[in-house]
Amino acid sequence: MSSYPVAHINLAALQHNFERVKQLAPNSKIMSAIKADAYGHGAIQVAQALHDSDAFAVARLSEGLLLRAAGIQQAIVILEGVNCVADLQSAAENDLSIVFHHASQLQLVSTAQLSRPLSFCWLMVETGMHRLGLSTDLIDHALQVLTTSSNITGEVGLMSHFANSDLVGDPRNQQQLDKLMECADQYGLKTSMANSAAIFSFSASHGDWVRPGLMLYGATPFEDRTAQDLDLKPVMQLTSELIAIQPLHVGDNVGYGGSWVAEKPGRIGIVSIGYGDGYSRHLSNVGSVLINNHRVPIVGRVSMDMIAIDISNLSDVTVGDAVIMWGSELLTVDDMAQQANTISYELLCQLNERVKREYHHG
Ligand SMILES: *Cc1c(COP(=O)(O)O)cnc(C)c1O
Repeated sequence: MSSYPVAHINLAALQHNFERVKQLAPNSKIMSAIKADAYGHGAIQVAQALHDSDAFAVARLSEGLLLRAAGIQQAIVILEGVNCVADLQSAAENDLSIVFHHASQLQLVSTAQLSRPLSFCWLMVETGMHRLGLSTDLIDHALQVLTTSSNITGEVGLMSHFANSDLVGDPRNQQQLDKLMECADQYGLKTSMANSAAIFSFSASHGDWVRPGLMLYGATPFEDRTAQDLDLKPVMQLTSELIAIQPLHVGDNVGYGGSWVAEKPGRIGIVSIGYGDGYSRHLSNVGSVLINNHRVPIVGRVSMDMIAIDISNLSDVTVGDAVIMWGSELLTVDDMAQQANTISYELLCQLNERVKREYHHG
């Protein structure tokens, strides 16, 4: 039985992109961001392939527990921390590391009686994004709570997150870094701030630990620089199959709502992928695919299970042909994100379990 759609995951490309992090930030340790199932690539397989990572970062406790259960040995940092004693205990038992970003979490750790201490913890400093973190005037007290708690062992690091690192040279980036460094210098603590965009464009922010995410998967964090420009290799190639070919006459409507109308006689192909797989409906009438190395447009709306493509100009197409949605140098996920008016992060993360992941070693 053939099964489609498939996301082919190229682990050699993943390792190449990891080497790029090492080249760009040779003096920093690497905390690879593998939240949201490694941006749709499969967290366990990605963690195994990135065995040289010094640590991994996920958003939630549940994600960290899955990685531990799969036998991942490195430090695993829970970026959102936890909000109840049971979860704090579970993190400690599974040797997961916590980011403390809120007064309520400090309260938790100061009153809990954990069966073993948490290690490699971080304090999130609010430096300008206004999402997670304690403002700089609360850091002194927070560090006092964390460093005197018997529930925490080892050093606590200072973490922050850029709101605009994709805007190279934006003064707000330097302002954010200055705020973090002021705290770090005052207390002599380790720092972590740089995501993919900052790893490329703001080396002053690399600090002790960089936190690459998107670049590992071979997509660009910048609007005006391609992944190829950055020497990143696409890790995911998303494919499916052509399941029908239809003749079109002038005036024929295609798909729900008839949002595309044939202006001349031609042919459309029907490909088995749709928003029910997590393929964005925003690609309706604006996306493209590759078939037999030709780039052709999506016509009409993306349906739950299918899309229509205009193959009028191709003669060599038959049912069963492979179709590539992204992950080729001729058609990148970044291209499609721009067409869909979103970011490649979203297109990658949205793919659901209906898309089979297949792993390749090169
Ligand atoms: C997701 C995430 C990262 C990685 O960001 P990229 O832009 O994908 O490199 C780094 N730090 C934090 C706190 C994150 O949530």
